[in-house]
Amino acid sequence: MADETTRTAPGGVEGGQSSGAPSGDRGPRPGSARGPRPAGREGGRKYFRRKKVCKFCVEKIDAINYKDVRLLSQFVAESGKIVPRRLTGVCTPHQRRLTKAIKQARNIALLPFAGRP
Ligand SMILES: [Zn+2]
Repeated sequence: MADETTRTAPGGVEGGQSSGAPSGDRGPRPGSARGPRPAGREGGRKYFRRKKVCKFCVEKIDAINYKDVRLLSQFVAESGKIVPRRLTGVCTPHQRRLTKAIKQARNIALLPFAGRP
């Protein structure tokens, strides 16, 4: 009597219904633009980072004497270049006076010019 073919498929849902697929593989990335450290180059940074204070402000040197080679040479690299302010921490007005003094000192051959090994 009951000669029914048992239909196992209750609903004819065919075709891969992609439900709940993760949309791409884009994870929620926190935009870390301009992080505090670049985390890239690890060159031996020998310059010890201490508190950068302008030496001239601390010692209250107002006029920088171009004859003071010992003082000036602290701000001149081996090549003869003037060390940039961001490395030495000298404040802008003092750096300008320092630069002037170094250039004067170069002219009277107390300091080397830049660009010479
Ligand atoms: Zn200063």
